[in-house]
Amino acid sequence: MTSTQQWIDQGLTTVAGTYGRYPLVAVRGEGCRLIDNDGKQYLDFLAGVAVNNLGHCHPAVVAAIREQAGTLIHCSNFYHIPTQIELSRLLCESSFGNRVFFCNSGAEANEAALKLARKWSGDKFGPQRHEIISATASFHGRTLATVSATGQEKVQAGFAPLLPGFKHVAFGDIEALRQAVGPNTCAVMLEPIQGEGGIRIPPPGYLKAVRELCNDHQLLLILDEIQTGLGRTGTLFAYQQEDIEPDVMTLAKALGGGVPIGAMVARDPYSDVLGSGTHGSTFGGNPLATAAAIAAFNELNNPELLHQCRATGTFFMAQLEQLKGRHPLILGVRGRGLMIGVELGCEGAPIVNKALERGLLINCTAGNVLRFVPPLIVSHAEISQLIDILDSIFSEHNAGVTTA
Ligand SMILES: *Cc1c(COP(=O)(O)O)cnc(C)c1O
Repeated sequence: MTSTQQWIDQGLTTVAGTYGRYPLVAVRGEGCRLIDNDGKQYLDFLAGVAVNNLGHCHPAVVAAIREQAGTLIHCSNFYHIPTQIELSRLLCESSFGNRVFFCNSGAEANEAALKLARKWSGDKFGPQRHEIISATASFHGRTLATVSATGQEKVQAGFAPLLPGFKHVAFGDIEALRQAVGPNTCAVMLEPIQGEGGIRIPPPGYLKAVRELCNDHQLLLILDEIQTGLGRTGTLFAYQQEDIEPDVMTLAKALGGGVPIGAMVARDPYSDVLGSGTHGSTFGGNPLATAAAIAAFNELNNPELLHQCRATGTFFMAQLEQLKGRHPLILGVRGRGLMIGVELGCEGAPIVNKALERGLLINCTAGNVLRFVPPLIVSHAEISQLIDILDSIFSEHNAGVTTA
């Protein structure tokens, strides 16, 4: 059997070094647990970065993949694909959307949205009107167009020249957005809650004001729900808690129950902008991915599960607030549903490392924000376990700081 160290050494040699990886060799998953090469179990509050909303290897998703794998794994988008048609219907019936373009990742879904915005505006108003406004601290993906949309220097560094036609404004600041809109603006792209930016929730009414601004200036409103969508914030989509509808919404992460798939949902009349020959993807919406996604969607689009997510999130946040009372190192707790961030008065990385040693998987975004995006089925007992582990880590950390 290959040892854990052998896997790590080999991986560091032949796999591209694009990620700083923890010394964990993942081999199996069950519900809220990830199991490593030595059989050690970890409590998984990262869930593949907000992908495994149903937990690992949900039986309905596993059964759908098995069944579809023995029937038809892939065929070209030159033909009609029943599972793709069915998934598009489910997404449209449960949202504002009229048509869905399928792809394989979040970045690709955002690429499709950016292309749609430019094509729509170019056709209607001429090629000058192509500017897209997004937010600072946003994250929209790693392709060149989505890196250009992403408002983070560390994501853009080294890849100049980026695509022209992108502007960034402070997230949550409607006046800044109003001032950035010009005659060449065609669209606004935002996350309803910023994920990679550190679980940043905009002030109440912000998205509604953005919607009105977009209406007034004939701008497309594109919501990147790649992280917030599919039940994560306690409703199927996060925009449903904002009393608005976007024109375009992008999805990926949890959509396929762990199988790679992305989607761009658009409403009429924009849904017809990308006509035959304008855009495409070999794998986009293939039978295997869409069969998995139908199974995942039917589990996630369940009022009981969404209610459970909201209730569990409330319990989780209350526990974290109590933890904050005991540890001044915690500066703030924020979140919606089971998308929760804890802002620290120190770097988060050492805390994440100590958590890993104790069998708890979490991560840190924006340098000092611990991010919790567990499966929506996480139990109160599992949350209490996490709280106990963090409690002891923070106690040690404080002791270490005072004796140093
Ligand atoms: C993860 C993420 C993306 C990128 O998705 P990939 O599948 O990694 O390309 C884009 N936007 C948001 C909000 C995300 O959280």
